[in-house]
Amino acid sequence: MENSVALVTGANKGIGKEIARQLAAAGLAVYVGSRDAARGERAAEEIGRGARLLVLDVTDAASIAAAAHKVHSLDILVNNAGISGDGKTADRDDVGAFRRIYETNVFGVAAVTNAFLPALRRSAHPRIVNISSGTGSLAWTTGPQFPHRGTFAAYRSSKAALNALTIYYAHALADAGIKVNALAPGLRRTDLNAAAAASDGDPAEAGAGAVRLALLPDDGPSGEFFSWDGTPVPW
Ligand code: NAP
Repeated sequence: MENSVALVTGANKGIGKEIARQLAAAGLAVYVGSRDAARGERAAEEIGRGARLLVLDVTDAASIAAAAHKVHSLDILVNNAGISGDGKTADRDDVGAFRRIYETNVFGVAAVTNAFLPALRRSAHPRIVNISSGTGSLAWTTGPQFPHRGTFAAYRSSKAALNALTIYYAHALADAGIKVNALAPGLRRTDLNAAAAASDGDPAEAGAGAVRLALLPDDGPSGEFFSWDGTPVPW
């Protein structure tokens, strides 16, 4: 994969920055996607060799088009950028919050993926990794895994939609040899929300899980959902 090129959206901090760091350490050229140029530039400098800024707001069509215009060929797209909102149950949330969260976590992924597909189609081993969440698993949600079942309804339903998109993209792109998988990164200490910020989960473990899916061999899976440690997650 030494001459491979990757793009990680929302890579200026958190899990995305870890994914970018690990891909760069593996010898790839990595576009550090960031909607803010200064924050992205700082992250790219911190990561060092192989990393370079790509200004990209996944909710802004002009920003996506300008970024895609700069990338002729791409081997790995990691759709990582995401927001969680404030954790309300569905009955208490404003529909505007649903729209805002879906705009980033669902529509943003579709818009970015479609914009970069021409570049991915030029790759010999194209991979797409969607950073989802175990909280988006409907099987886990309806089982004993989550005691507070109704919270973060907008966020969790957005990740369930992202999971569905993962399957549909995998089916649609199978003939082109593009593998598409989703990752449940586990609870990680990031700025995503208060629960994440208070956790002691190491973002590097999540990064390693994403890199595993990004560097899947040609006989690897597609259209599947994995935990950060490589175990399958039920949809
Ligand atoms: P984070 O530290 O808040 O990072 C989120 C990243 O997404 C930031 O770089 C942020 O950029 C970027 N972003 C948000 N909206 C964007 C937009 N419109 N365009 C481009 N970039 C945008 O959170 P994180 O925990 O690393 O989250 C990364 C992914 O992991 C998310 O998809 C999240 O749902 C998922 N996840 C996280 C956890 C966890 O426990 N941390 C658990 C499950 C899933 P700015 O700095 O500009 O805001």
